[in-house]
Amino acid sequence: MDVTLILESLNDAQRKAVTAPAQPMLVIAGAGSGKTRVLVHRAAWLIDVEGVSPQSLLAVTFTNKAAAEMRGRIESLLGMPVNHLWIGTFHGLAHRLLRRHWREAGLPPNFQIIDSDDQLRLIKRLLKNLEIDDSRWVPREIQYFINAQKDEGLRPKHLDDDGDPNRRQMIAFYKAYEEICERAGLVDFAELLLRAHELWRDNAELLAHYQRRFSHLLIDEFQDTNAIQYAWLRLLAGKTVVPFAVGDDDQSIYRWRGARVEHIHQFQKDFPGTVVVKLEQNYRSTATILKAANALIANNNARIGKNLWTDGVDGEPIKVYAAYNERDEADFIVGRLRDWIDQGNLRADAAVLYRSNAQSRVLEEGLMNAGIPYRVYGGLRFFERAEIKDALAYLRLVSNRDDDASFERIINRPTRGIGARTVESMRAYARANNCSLWRAASAVANDELNARAANAVLSFLNLIEKMARDAADLDLSQQIDLAIHASDLINFFRKDKGEKGETRVENLLELVSAGKSFKPSLADEMSLVDEFLSHAALESGEGQADAWEDCVQLMTMHSAKGLEFPLVFMSGMEDGLFPHQRSIADPSGLEEERRLCYVGITRTMQTLYVTYAEQRRLHGMDKLSHPSRFIAEIPGEFVEEIRPRVQVSRRLFSPGPRAASKATEAELGIRLGQRVRHDKFGNGVILNCEGQGAHARVEVNFETAGTKWLVLSYANLDLM
Ligand code: ATP
Ligand code: MG
Repeated sequence: MDVTLILESLNDAQRKAVTAPAQPMLVIAGAGSGKTRVLVHRAAWLIDVEGVSPQSLLAVTFTNKAAAEMRGRIESLLGMPVNHLWIGTFHGLAHRLLRRHWREAGLPPNFQIIDSDDQLRLIKRLLKNLEIDDSRWVPREIQYFINAQKDEGLRPKHLDDDGDPNRRQMIAFYKAYEEICERAGLVDFAELLLRAHELWRDNAELLAHYQRRFSHLLIDEFQDTNAIQYAWLRLLAGKTVVPFAVGDDDQSIYRWRGARVEHIHQFQKDFPGTVVVKLEQNYRSTATILKAANALIANNNARIGKNLWTDGVDGEPIKVYAAYNERDEADFIVGRLRDWIDQGNLRADAAVLYRSNAQSRVLEEGLMNAGIPYRVYGGLRFFERAEIKDALAYLRLVSNRDDDASFERIINRPTRGIGARTVESMRAYARANNCSLWRAASAVANDELNARAANAVLSFLNLIEKMARDAADLDLSQQIDLAIHASDLINFFRKDKGEKGETRVENLLELVSAGKSFKPSLADEMSLVDEFLSHAALESGEGQADAWEDCVQLMTMHSAKGLEFPLVFMSGMEDGLFPHQRSIADPSGLEEERRLCYVGITRTMQTLYVTYAEQRRLHGMDKLSHPSRFIAEIPGEFVEEIRPRVQVSRRLFSPGPRAASKATEAELGIRLGQRVRHDKFGNGVILNCEGQGAHARVEVNFETAGTKWLVLSYANLDLM
């Protein structure tokens, strides 16, 4: 192999890290300084020059996309495939281990993974079973509590209620939830990590086996490991496996999910003699982007602090666009994307980032109307769509009759005359006899139900049994095909003549093709269908689409971590949206939001657009909003404001002494000349505005009702 290929285009500091002797290493450096590149080259160096077998390397990254990319880059450096190299996310690797060692892990062989939606549904059902009022005990809070404990490695038995009745109840929920999962063979995301940790902790021989197998541990995005992930790594490392971690404290954005940037310090304590390498040259972004990002993050207090520089060009200023509302924002972005594509650029080189998933819908609509192919990472996830989950639930139940979540999902879907009361009697039976709904169903059908209900239930049970028999000799895609047809799901959605029904049918058919192109990697450990189902659950956090098609990339700022694009849009830059409402009052929350903003800006290689809407309809509500405070934290010299819409001349509309101040306009998020609609007075145009907050008033010239002054907070004006 060609050693120079591995070492070329690395700077001195990078080369030092790549070629270092086997010792604990920590590379702490800013965005775009080549951390991931160092990790990839390190792997190639170890294999090629140090003669380490690929199967002795374990590499952990943050997303499946990053893992696939890393494998590809290592293979292209080495010029050969490296099949036995374990690369994956923490969850993916934990899953792999649990499949191999389900017995030692105390799991049934066909255990199923549930995603956070399933988990929430399970908790809601649990509350119902316990006959607990879910307005007093909020399911989401219970879910958060359970996951937070697991992320810290804590089981109910480790928890003390400290005499606090609230906490006592939470612990009781956690315990009940665990029992349900145990009985049904369900494993949530946090459980994957916790089990994998316990597996090693409690099986010294198994751990020793893996410690012999792996000689090197490579970890990307180290700043975002949580307690259980860190404990898992540390356990594996023991005294013999050499850890090599890269990260950036300024990009720690998962504190809310238990990530602890303090692990950067802990690492150095746990592995004495750790060599720390800093990289300071940024190769990704223009000088303007980099300086803007540096200035923004300088507002944070808790930092290790670094000095990132580039010898690249200054580049274009960051362009800030104040949209009128969310549709205007989408139109603007679509327009710029059009230009970009027309200039012969790749669509995949452009990314549209947003703070929360719900924002994607309007953007998607705009792109769809413009006929620009796009792909959503996270958010509108193929495997999370209702019809897909329905189909998967059939497969799951066929694979594991005790899977109560799936049972409940499909018992009456498509509708087969099994009512809520029938289901309730099964639940009651299952509760009383501590058994699964599947078992309860036949008992209840025989003893309690009237003939009609009993027949409906029995024919459902027969359907599943028949599907199981028919599926036995089929390959994966045929099994999926069977599931959507035998269940009658596909006809059920076909009957829905609207556009929605059509999309659902298409999605179901797409699932069959997904089965066709699915490449198993754990064939020894589990059945193909089970692996596919696990894959669906694990992948639901990352978008699926036609991977081969060149398309614009849509994603949350969180999922953009580690990636880079020549053209980036940061949309919805409004206070309350970004920084997120719930972080604004909390200084450490605000710092995390700022790091997220830093991540967003530093994805950009050349051109960055920052957009915000002065009024936004989100989750069905209209709100006036202010530009994000983060925009103001970028020094003016790096920013260019654009507002191509025709500005209405103020003089034309406000001749009198009550001229509105610019500040008021901005604060209210409305503009003179803007068209509005009032329930009673009809359509009109804003002539004037004054006052602030609750006292803000506007003068509107209505087409039929004439000119009126209205208090904004009562007027309920629809901006048009
Ligand atoms: P992030 O913090 O965002 O994860 P990173 O530190 O992992 O960033 P990389 O993604 O590894 O940075 O590198 C950023 C870009 O700079 C990539 O396009 C990479 O190929 C390029 N790059 C890194 N080092 C060099 C170098 N020595 N010469 C040329 N290009 C480089
Ligand atoms: Mg990286």
